[in-house]
Amino acid sequence: MYLTKKQYERPVIQRVNVGLMNKYGTRTEYEPVTHIDGNAVADLITAYGSPVFVLSEKTIRATFRDANRAFKTRYPKVQFAWSYKTNYISAVCNVFHQEGSWAEVVSGFEYQKAINNGVPGANIIFNGPDKSEAELIFAINNGSLIHIDHLDELYLIKEIEPQLQKRARVAIRVNMDTGVYPAWDRFGFNYEGGQAQDAINKIMLNTNMDLVGLHCHIGTFMLTPSAYAVAATKMSELALNVKKKFKKTLEYIDMGGGFASRNTLKGSYIQGADAAPSFDQYAEAISTAILNAGFTEADLPLLILETGRALIDEAGFLLGSVISNKRLADGRRATIMNFGVNILFTSFWYDHKITPAQPFGQHNESTVLYGPLCMNIDVIRENISLPPLKKNDQVVVHTVGAYNMTQWMQFIALRPAVVLIDMNQKPHVIRNKETPASIQKEEEMPAYLKEFKI
Ligand SMILES: *Cc1c(COP(=O)(O)O)cnc(C)c1O
Repeated sequence: MYLTKKQYERPVIQRVNVGLMNKYGTRTEYEPVTHIDGNAVADLITAYGSPVFVLSEKTIRATFRDANRAFKTRYPKVQFAWSYKTNYISAVCNVFHQEGSWAEVVSGFEYQKAINNGVPGANIIFNGPDKSEAELIFAINNGSLIHIDHLDELYLIKEIEPQLQKRARVAIRVNMDTGVYPAWDRFGFNYEGGQAQDAINKIMLNTNMDLVGLHCHIGTFMLTPSAYAVAATKMSELALNVKKKFKKTLEYIDMGGGFASRNTLKGSYIQGADAAPSFDQYAEAISTAILNAGFTEADLPLLILETGRALIDEAGFLLGSVISNKRLADGRRATIMNFGVNILFTSFWYDHKITPAQPFGQHNESTVLYGPLCMNIDVIRENISLPPLKKNDQVVVHTVGAYNMTQWMQFIALRPAVVLIDMNQKPHVIRNKETPASIQKEEEMPAYLKEFKI
């Protein structure tokens, strides 16, 4: 039997920080993450480049099924609608559609994406304050659900009546005080102030609109399930009022999105995985409130959920590499990574969990992680305890599936490839990495600017 040779570890001298757990400081990572769903990080980087986004289909489906189970075991009629803006790469949307999700869109562009993905018009929810006349005509004639945001939109739907082949199926977006501040009151119609009731009255008097539901989206990354109980109670009261006043049964209550993912918010003492409520806790709050509101069994509304980040965040990883290390003037260690805030927009809000992708030693050090951009705000982590990494070492950034692949930008550097690892652990490119040509394609050069001499 042979002894395996231990990995060499270079000696480090480190100042002891007063007040931390022990003389080595606080360790955040004990094990490297070398594989994602059976694929070696090093192999993924060799095949698709560095940096590269990787999504786990297994985690997406498992997370969706957990959420669906949490609601369906507590409430008889439940429908999820995938929030396109959270991650609208078509392959990702179609995983959710295969699981039975409708589409929830907030722009004409996203609406078109849902149509192109093959979602039937009746299963598209059209939200947001900016719907053009042409988009409204198309969506209404296509049988989609129009969630009205403001009075001008309501009047516009009346105005375009001659161009409509059918009655518009509409809901209003309602905003309200749920006990969580600041309240989101810029979208939709206010509940407490009576705006919501006014809008309902106007719709009910309109011949070309059919009020079919009520919608709210009370905020995002909501850590308190009780806020949803308050919202569901107020939504139910409004629906019951419509029944009482107009003898009309509403088909659904749409509770929007906003459930927290397992990311750690900046400045939070508790790790995100411990702070985020479970789907069961949200489901309990919402379903109990609606079931206790006083609906007859026949009038019980369909419960729609537009959950975004909580369904996809954990399935996403960003793989990247170290460009260089340096010491800052104050002695702190700084490591420059090859990915920055241009592709990791959520690093403005979260302290992302970041793990080395190769074995490492016992020691670790407080490190500032910078991106590669020539810009001071390009900071991935202001302070993370990591073992010393060297040039070309690889890391895995966790919980990046939500909002990064839609809010990213080609500022200074182009956007990387996105790879989906399927249920059989086979990787598929679902978005190619950008090239200078793919960006240049949209530009035009006026003839007189084509030539120059320097
Ligand atoms: C963004 C958005 C969602 C999804 O929100 P999450 O916080 O990602 O769950 C749902 N509904 C509407 C109307 C939205 O704007």
